Amino acid sequence: MKKQQTAATMCDKDDLIVICGAGGFIAGALTRYFCEQGFTRLRAVDKKPLPEWYQRVPGVENLSLDLSDEAHCKRAVEGAVEVYNLAADMGGMGFIERFRVECLRSVLINTHLIEAAYWAGVERYFFASSACAYNTELQKDPHVRALMESDAYPAMAERGYGWEKLISEMFCQEYHAERGMKTAIARFHNVYGPYGTWDGGREKAPAALCRKAIEAKDSGKLEIDIWGDGNQTRSFMYIDDCIKGVDMIMHSDDLIATPINLGSSELVSINELVSAIEDIADVKLKRTYDLTAPQGVAGRNSDNTMIEKILNWEPDTPLRDGMGKTYTWIARQYADRKAGKRTVS
Ligand code: NAD
Repeated sequence: MKKQQTAATMCDKDDLIVICGAGGFIAGALTRYFCEQGFTRLRAVDKKPLPEWYQRVPGVENLSLDLSDEAHCKRAVEGAVEVYNLAADMGGMGFIERFRVECLRSVLINTHLIEAAYWAGVERYFFASSACAYNTELQKDPHVRALMESDAYPAMAERGYGWEKLISEMFCQEYHAERGMKTAIARFHNVYGPYGTWDGGREKAPAALCRKAIEAKDSGKLEIDIWGDGNQTRSFMYIDDCIKGVDMIMHSDDLIATPINLGSSELVSINELVSAIEDIADVKLKRTYDLTAPQGVAGRNSDNTMIEKILNWEPDTPLRDGMGKTYTWIARQYADRKAGKRTVS
């Protein structure tokens, strides 16, 4: 069995690593991870003003730059050995179904960033793609078979957001094919965990449902409204698994310019997710279903055959464990906000 490479085994501790979108959820966690691994030159970039970043990791160079601008991309990657592109205008279904133009415009970020990274001579470039790049025709039933990497083509991606991911993936593939740059592409399936958006319109189902349960307990009105009929199925990946997977995918020479699923294969319906939250919160809620709300595809799961074969690993945090930590964190955020303290969203 080949030894699995990671940043810790392949990079020098003073190599400059640039993490884009670092004011947000996943790239914020990635920045913290590299810092904890002992990397001394980390540059975190996000368009949000610094006070709005979800995490600011001590000792990291933080730049507030809009990466849809070519000149900002050149500045962001100066001297970089590795670049991670997790910057995108995105959110849960409520956001991506409503703001398709905003989602499509994220194509500017990857287009300028990969070109700048190429000319800066970076060794490796990572792009965060999504399960929304998959053909929606294959996701019309809650009991769908899990999506494998080849299911993106023939293409019929999620309108707006999914098409942007697909074309940006193609940039990564062609920069390798034509220019020899080492690129990595992971298709994330629903990531959740502490320091993720939990309110404000961009939050995704796990965080939104935790918040609703906390609000219900707090108000004493023991009801929860669910988008759709609750039978839609998904898999949810805990943030620590996502970060570990990003590191391994980025440094695997078997995966250069090769899109790969990075997701849990533990399929649950939204109703089952609500039951898990009720257990954690120790509450029973009356469910109402909003059939007019955005709900995305009927079913989606990650086929992990490829990641298991190549990396000998798959995301494996049980949903119940990850949701327990997430619920606790959101409950604390909720209490902080009520007390007038600053919170993530
Ligand atoms: P997030 O919204 O928390 O973080 C994205 C960050 O990108 C934000 O802080 C935002 O300010 C920043 N950004 C947006 N436009 C920018 C620009 N022009 N210049 C610089 N920064 C900009 O989202 P996340 O959940 O951390 O997602 C990270 C990446 O993973 C995104 O590419 C997203 O599409 C992808 N992804 C996430 C999930 C998920 O479940 N969270 C699933 C599939 C794919």
